[in-house]
Amino acid sequence: ISRLHSRWMGRNCIFLETVDSTNNYLKRAAEDGAVNGTLAVAEEQTGGKGRRGRSWETPKGTNIAMTILLRPEIRPEHASRLTLLMAMAVVRGIQKETGLQAGIKWPNDVVVDGHKVCGILTEMNTEVDYINYVVIGTGINVNQTEFPEEIREIAGSLKLSAGHPVARAGLIASIMEELEDLYEVFLKTEDLSALKDEYNRNCVTCGHEIRVLEPGHEYTGTTDGINDLGELVVKKADGETVCVYAGEVSVRGL
Ligand code: ATP
Repeated sequence: ISRLHSRWMGRNCIFLETVDSTNNYLKRAAEDGAVNGTLAVAEEQTGGKGRRGRSWETPKGTNIAMTILLRPEIRPEHASRLTLLMAMAVVRGIQKETGLQAGIKWPNDVVVDGHKVCGILTEMNTEVDYINYVVIGTGINVNQTEFPEEIREIAGSLKLSAGHPVARAGLIASIMEELEDLYEVFLKTEDLSALKDEYNRNCVTCGHEIRVLEPGHEYTGTTDGINDLGELVVKKADGETVCVYAGEVSVRGL
């Protein structure tokens, strides 16, 4: 990626013609000692993963399938906040490269014109009190224009919204540069205190009725966005306020 101006994020870059999943690939590389900030990018991903065992579709040659490896010296329970940083980096990158205003569907999706264009899957290898490594996988529908039946309603792409193709290498470079900046801000406090206003401004989950699905129960409410800890602050219909942790929750109603 010749245009990359980050200092370290993504500078060690591995290109893969085809791979099962860039997350799986980079987890293996991490075990073998790959350095902090290593980026894996695949032209084709045959077994892309979403949350809770779902799949992520990546056809050959049109989209971005990438994973970044980080070795943050932070508490393991804070690592899921990295998903939010990546979502912000993707929004900034899309804005810079295309002028499109993307929105974040908390915690791990990015949408444009109400359609999902990006999914983020963070996985980690931790001990009780430290992190061995974190991989943040990011799939972005860049130039795809046809989608399989199952996701036709929900999926979109940058090309469909912009009306022209978008260069993938430039977008990856922008996202790496933005992620480096965001990550360095995040590391000072390990929380979202300095970033949550921007996150919430770009968060499409904010301001309307949502349905929160937790394992075993669900409820409706409204939200003004995340708190310093990256939790979604939801005001339930009965007036109670709950802070929802990213882990195992889906938000519906957008
Ligand atoms: P939810 O938003 O319902 O909580 P999720 O965030 O858990 O879902 P992800 O893990 O982000 O979902 O992504 C997996 C889901 O995304 C799949 O079940 C499918 O519906 C959808 N999907 C798969 N591939 C694509 C794609 N290329 N573009 C948009 N959506 C996709």
